[in-house]
Amino acid sequence: MKEKLEEIRLEAESELKKAPDEVSLQNVKSKFLGRKGVITEYLKRMPEVPEAERPEMGRLINQVKSFIENLFEKRLEEIKEEKKTSMLLKERVDITLPGRGIRIGGKHPITQVMEEIISIFERMGFEVVEGPEVELDYYNFEALNIPKDHPARDMQDTFYISDEIVLRTHTSPVQIRVMEKQKPPVKVIAPGKVYRCDSDVSHTPMFHQVEGLLVDEHVTFADLKGVLTEFAKLMFGANIGVRFRPSFFPFTEPSAEVDIECVICGGKGCRVCKNSGWLEILGCGMVDPEVFKSVNYDPERYTGFAFGMGVERIAMLKFGINDIRLFFENDIRFLRQFS
Ligand SMILES: [Zn+2]
Repeated sequence: MKEKLEEIRLEAESELKKAPDEVSLQNVKSKFLGRKGVITEYLKRMPEVPEAERPEMGRLINQVKSFIENLFEKRLEEIKEEKKTSMLLKERVDITLPGRGIRIGGKHPITQVMEEIISIFERMGFEVVEGPEVELDYYNFEALNIPKDHPARDMQDTFYISDEIVLRTHTSPVQIRVMEKQKPPVKVIAPGKVYRCDSDVSHTPMFHQVEGLLVDEHVTFADLKGVLTEFAKLMFGANIGVRFRPSFFPFTEPSAEVDIECVICGGKGCRVCKNSGWLEILGCGMVDPEVFKSVNYDPERYTGFAFGMGVERIAMLKFGINDIRLFFENDIRFLRQFS
């Protein structure tokens, strides 16, 4: 039996040393020491051993048992170490490979055009002012000479929050807020978001406007024409044709719309300009005396002009884009063309 135990010890030693990984090592361990293992079987057979030899047998079996246990622990450490080394070798980073790089983003085309518009008027001495997007009915309509029964108040166009509070439908209420706080001369532009209940290829529920207001003594329509013609040429090129066409707005009198020569066909007539050769870029006019009365400006002493333009419209004409919704879909392939 002693010889048999020595054989088992040698067999276990060789198998443990050969085990290539943790799983096979565990298998070898349970083959010898597990519940149905070889050594366990020997222990179970102890009662068959003559009583005199039992202590000696027990000592030998325990010796083999702890030999296997020690060797198992040693080999387990070795296997873990080998695994770590091979992982480190496999995961080695080649620092000589070129990096993947992060693409630099660009400004949104609307932001670019907005900044360009602002910069042109700043160079002409206009100051940038801002106002709230959630606006009182009074500032959005009433003070701008748009009484309660005016068609411009059509429910379809305006987002009403309550009877007296709206999402501003234009940047014009900023004019009133500025004039309430400041005596003439006033020379400001008000860029910002505006909201209308409308959505198709040329309308989105939110879009951007830039409003302008100049008030002083002796301001005439010639000043208005000069400033806006200069703006159109700086924005669309020095040779672009510009015309002023009579129009109507409740808060200006007289009122006009400004057209530029079609940027697509050069004035010959095409689908974009509906064969007219002209494209509307903004609305403007001399401030209505009724508006001055609501902010306690003396209409006998002061005159002024105001204008407003849609930033998306300017951007569409500048970049030749035919669907306003492209600006808000945030398709990276579209946006990348402007960076
Ligand atoms: Zn055209």
